[in-house]
Amino acid sequence: GFDDSRGDLYLTRHDHVGYRYEILSLLGKGSFGQVVKCYDHKTKANIALKIIRNKKRFEKQGVVEVNVLNKLTQEDPNEEYNLVHVLDHFYFRGHLCFSFELLGTNLYEWLKAGGFTGVHLGVVKRFATQMLQCLNLLHSLKIIHCDLKPENVLLKDSRILKPLSADANTYHSNSSSRSTFSSKIPPDFNPNNHIYDIKVIDFGSSCYEDERLYTYVQSRFYRSPEIILGLPYSMSIDMWSFGCVLAELFTGYPIFPGENENEQLACIMEIKGLPPSSLLATGSRTRTFFDSNNTPRSITNSKGKKRRPGSKTLSGVLRSTDMAFLDFLDKCFSWNPEQRITPKEALEHPFITGQRFIPESSDNILRKAIQKQSQLESEKKPLSGSST
Ligand code: ATP
Ligand code: MG
Ligand code: MG
Repeated sequence: GFDDSRGDLYLTRHDHVGYRYEILSLLGKGSFGQVVKCYDHKTKANIALKIIRNKKRFEKQGVVEVNVLNKLTQEDPNEEYNLVHVLDHFYFRGHLCFSFELLGTNLYEWLKAGGFTGVHLGVVKRFATQMLQCLNLLHSLKIIHCDLKPENVLLKDSRILKPLSADANTYHSNSSSRSTFSSKIPPDFNPNNHIYDIKVIDFGSSCYEDERLYTYVQSRFYRSPEIILGLPYSMSIDMWSFGCVLAELFTGYPIFPGENENEQLACIMEIKGLPPSSLLATGSRTRTFFDSNNTPRSITNSKGKKRRPGSKTLSGVLRSTDMAFLDFLDKCFSWNPEQRITPKEALEHPFITGQRFIPESSDNILRKAIQKQSQLESEKKPLSGSST
């Protein structure tokens, strides 16, 4: 084993890491380094090994990741919170490595295997509930994930994964934001026919709320407006991304697929209209996107498309009329981070609990209707009493 120019450890099948882990296949590769499937000769089980690039910046972030993972694993002895458990960490030839329980395919690959048709609302709800358990724990520990997206949510069942192409002897492929290797998920595979469990992974960008290192976080499609606009951020950025993941699970496609920063905000405004002026007033990057009258700068994407604020609805984009789902997502997509739904509130929302959903706007109408009804009944009582 040696390092390539980007500081990745060069590995081939059956190589050993620290005499203990035998390399079986590549599971994923990104800017951080690589994740390989290994056979652990000590425990006689397959595991996932994340091998961080041999570069200062990545190692530093890797140390933060190990600390967060250790804390979270320790907080979850009964496996209730649907987050990946770290097993061990060590250095191998100058590379920080950590081993994880082996999980299955990520939700992006899974949607791809299903032809990007999306999954039934019941499956969305199941995954939403499981992700919320994780987000709720993070919330109580004041940890921000900072990179929630379908690639970072994995099916628990590790049998649903055979990513290595048969001819590949080494695992070096062109890295891209989306995985380049193809999964061998059976072609007749229909996500709706199976009921799966998920776990949240990749705490490689996460931080404690009061120890934020970067002003610019999250992957573009899942990036919250406060990050885009350069506002202070908190744990609520994860709830924005969470909403984006649910929408994508349902339709198969990212709900806000911006080609760049400008278009990202344009995609959001297309559905949500203009941001409140209070956000624009304090955003350090507001002028990148708006002129001095707070009018959005007109932009055209690579397909010549101009996006107009408020020209689409959530219901239309999702092709759903499920009021509970729409209301739930609407609350994840609150412009104002302080008004955005929290994991705890989300767990109590009718979309998750399955209780009958009563839209807030009609609350008053409903209350009046109930008052009227009880009034009618009390007026009726003496009458019905006298008639018997
Ligand atoms: P980058 O942020 O540079 O994209 P990364 O930090 O996202 O890299 P991870 O998300 O931790 O790296 O892992 C990359 C991919 O490897 C995941 O999307 C997933 O497909 C696979 N993977 C990671 N951990 C596991 C695991 N425990 N079991 C199975 N596959 C895994
Ligand atoms: Mg990742
Ligand atoms: Mg990462």
